[in-house]
Amino acid sequence: DQMATVIDGKAVAQTIRSEIAEEVRALSQKYGKVPGLAVVIVGNRKDSQSYVGMKRKACAELGIKSFDIDLPEQVSESDLIKQVHQLNVNPDVHGILVQLPLPKHINEEKVLSEISLGKDVDGFHPLNIGKLAMKDRDPLFLPCTPKVMLLKFSFMLSCNVDFILCCHTSYSFTLATCKKACIELLSRSGVSIKGKKAVVVGRSNIVGLPASLLLLKADATVTIVHSRTTQPESIIREADIVIAAAGQPMMIKGSWIKPGAAVIDVGTNAVDDPTKKSGYRLVGDVDFEEASKVAGWITPVPGGVGPMTVTMLLHNTLEGAKRCFEKNH
Ligand code: NDP
Repeated sequence: DQMATVIDGKAVAQTIRSEIAEEVRALSQKYGKVPGLAVVIVGNRKDSQSYVGMKRKACAELGIKSFDIDLPEQVSESDLIKQVHQLNVNPDVHGILVQLPLPKHINEEKVLSEISLGKDVDGFHPLNIGKLAMKDRDPLFLPCTPKVMLLKFSFMLSCNVDFILCCHTSYSFTLATCKKACIELLSRSGVSIKGKKAVVVGRSNIVGLPASLLLLKADATVTIVHSRTTQPESIIREADIVIAAAGQPMMIKGSWIKPGAAVIDVGTNAVDDPTKKSGYRLVGDVDFEEASKVAGWITPVPGGVGPMTVTMLLHNTLEGAKRCFEKNH
């Protein structure tokens, strides 16, 4: 008796990826150049290596040139920053991503601030985040995971294809376009984020905070729930839109969800599972089994937000390359 529409992130990601590949081919014909993404990894954390591997593989599949910078755990902060500076001036690199977390001896904030604004495809530069927070300002790039959210909402209304086209034919700022396309499509379908009650669970720099800023820009009334919030369930129960990004396995129960709400589950948590060969399985922050009986829309884990995030990174890289090719043409 599942009530919710389950959003297939993998399928949507596949559609968008083929669109990006098409655009990459067109750019290569027009300019004789392809977009380039530099993925920098420090040390050998297993999870980071697996994320970086996915990003590099996706680049190869789409015809985006991948620049692989693998640095040892002991690399000094100044050597890492030197690498970033080299990538900043490399004309074949249009996007720079430094995989987080960095080892303790390196100041993450300092490194991220050194990435050229025009190549900040993760959208983590303080100036990009600052613009996201301000009225009537648009960042050059939207952080990838929150950007997924906008696409998901348009998908819920089965307008994803139109939306993707709008998004890809844009040569201006990503947010301006996404926002415009998304809001327009939503309102055309008689549904809107505008005026909706949205609750974001989590306030991290990479997911929770930018997601709430983005919803605010889209005129939702936003509440942020975090680890010090008392009675989160009563706040979440009010929400038309729930973004779960707390990193707490199955924390959000079915009884916490307002019937018909849209639930985007960002959480990716490994829990022990002896029946699996690997010994673990991935679960979200939402109890899917329960919540899917109550929600209107829900994203599964895995196969929801995850594959879309990588795709948004590739989309941001494409946008960066387009801006660069246009300017130098
Ligand atoms: P962080 O650990 O950086 O942040 C977690 C946030 O959740 C914090 O703001 C914390 O509050 C809050 N929180 C923790 N416990 C609770 C609780 N019991 N109730 C309410 N709030 C709580 O995680 P990230 O933002 O980096 O990631 C969140 C999740 O999303 C993780 O599972 C991660 O794996 C996943 N993720 C998935 C991605 C994808 O593409 N699918 C991309 C990035 C992350 P406080 O600030 O008070 O500490």
